[in-house]
Amino acid sequence: MNTFGMKVKARCFMEYDSVADLVDIEFSELARPVLHIGGGSNLLFTGDFKGTVLHSKINFIEILDECHSEPSSCHSERSEESFPPVLVSVGAGVVFDDFCDWAAKEGLWGVENLSYIPGEVGASAVQNIGAYGVEVKDVIRTVYCYDTLEEEFVKFDVSECGYGYRDSIFKNPEVKGRYVVTHVVFALSREAQPKLDYGHLKDAVYSHFERKDNSDENALTPALIRKVIIKIRQEKLPEPSVVGSAGSFFKNPVVPMEQFIKIETAAKEEFGSDYKVPHYDLPDGMVKVPAAWMIEQCGWKGRRSGGAAVWDKQPLVLVNFTGDAYPEEIIGLERRIIESVKNKFGVGLHPEVDHI
Ligand SMILES: Cc1cc2nc3c(=O)[nH]c(=O)nc-3n(C[C@H](O)[C@H](O)[C@H](O)COP(=O)(O)OP(=O)(O)OC[C@H]3O[C@@H](n4cnc5c(N)ncnc54)[C@H](O)[C@@H]3O)c2cc1C
Repeated sequence: MNTFGMKVKARCFMEYDSVADLVDIEFSELARPVLHIGGGSNLLFTGDFKGTVLHSKINFIEILDECHSEPSSCHSERSEESFPPVLVSVGAGVVFDDFCDWAAKEGLWGVENLSYIPGEVGASAVQNIGAYGVEVKDVIRTVYCYDTLEEEFVKFDVSECGYGYRDSIFKNPEVKGRYVVTHVVFALSREAQPKLDYGHLKDAVYSHFERKDNSDENALTPALIRKVIIKIRQEKLPEPSVVGSAGSFFKNPVVPMEQFIKIETAAKEEFGSDYKVPHYDLPDGMVKVPAAWMIEQCGWKGRRSGGAAVWDKQPLVLVNFTGDAYPEEIIGLERRIIESVKNKFGVGLHPEVDHI
């Protein structure tokens, strides 16, 4: 139940497959703490879990009656070209990539760039998963939850979810664990909406056509983009069923411009005046520097430490290299990476992965 493959035990594990079963659970009587998991692909269990682990098997994908769910869209005048959104309700226990596959087969646009991200639909709305220039918040309409404190159902419009980079109100320490996501309504589209501006995605997609320009735009389908993205991800990232990991282990640090200039000046001294440190300027004058670049500069790429290792194709990913690594080995490697990045760049790295 955890893609890092930590061999740990929980005192109690409960799985429910309907909202009715969820409501029947006496939350106040469960062994504490209570942790709701999805696919366990953003978690590092640091030892046996002394409380209750819950898991949803609410599995359905349903196109909603748009007029029923969106009264305003029933009465709006539709021009020939404009397509109303297709609202799709998806159970929290559906594997997110199964949903992407379903959407691609239905010819629905919106989640193709998020293909092959491990995990389930409930967690996608908690994590605000993102890849290749798309975040799931871009297509979420409403998140439906069970409030385990008030014992009632609540719904959050996307504007109420406090979405930020891999963040939402559901991760806020004050409410963390209170809301169990039961299903999510997504707004997809039958109108072609390719989002290819991220990195070399456009080149990779057009390499499938004979003419390498935009003249083939009409031939683009969500299924083709999905196929290309899966191929890129398979080449770069460890396959969770083969090599355990939780994807990107660290957040990309954000530093003040003066600190970035220092980092770049030192890099130019080392690699020559033409060298450019990869970075992303933020609107507030701060600079986001890829943690992967820093980790690589510290010589960690591909290095092993006991059963743990830094993935050789993507140094942001720590892996359970031997398949039987202990949590302490992953944590030890994490600590040493944080120390060396701090020593070399004066920058503190923070884990993206939830330590349980
Ligand atoms: C190889 C690899 C590649 C990855 N690539 C990406 C990527 O490109 N982009 C990206 O954003 N992430 C990526 N990830 C991280 C991970 O896939 C996402 O964070 C994903 O959303 C986790 O889903 P999960 O179902 O496994 O959730 P878990 O890891 O089990 O849980 C994550 C959080 O969601 C909460 N949660 C789970 N289900 C529910 C529910 N029903 N109700 C309330 N809370 C719930 C948990 O309590 C926890 O806080 C990658 C991971 C791996 C292993």
